[in-house]
Amino acid sequence: MRRIAPAEDFEILETASQVVCARCQFSFRTKPGLGEKPAGRCECGGWICPSCLDCRDAGEQSRCLKQRKRLARKLALQKKVGVG
Ligand SMILES: [Zn+2]
Ligand SMILES: [Zn+2]
Repeated sequence: MRRIAPAEDFEILETASQVVCARCQFSFRTKPGLGEKPAGRCECGGWICPSCLDCRDAGEQSRCLKQRKRLARKLALQKKVGVG
């Protein structure tokens, strides 16, 4: 009886990896399977930087509309919680 299946038996689609945000140079670990969450996947396919909420992928990427939504939500939350 084998406890652990050989590596090739697993279908590894996404593994956590280190990503450096090109915008703020923040280095973070990706979280596979977490969509629309910081360090998770954006709908555009890029990784979401937990620092600036920018979408980042390995390659160049144009501005993402989802990212603007996230930033607006974050700002609204900060306004609610923050002093003022
Ligand atoms: Zn995006
Ligand atoms: Zn960033």
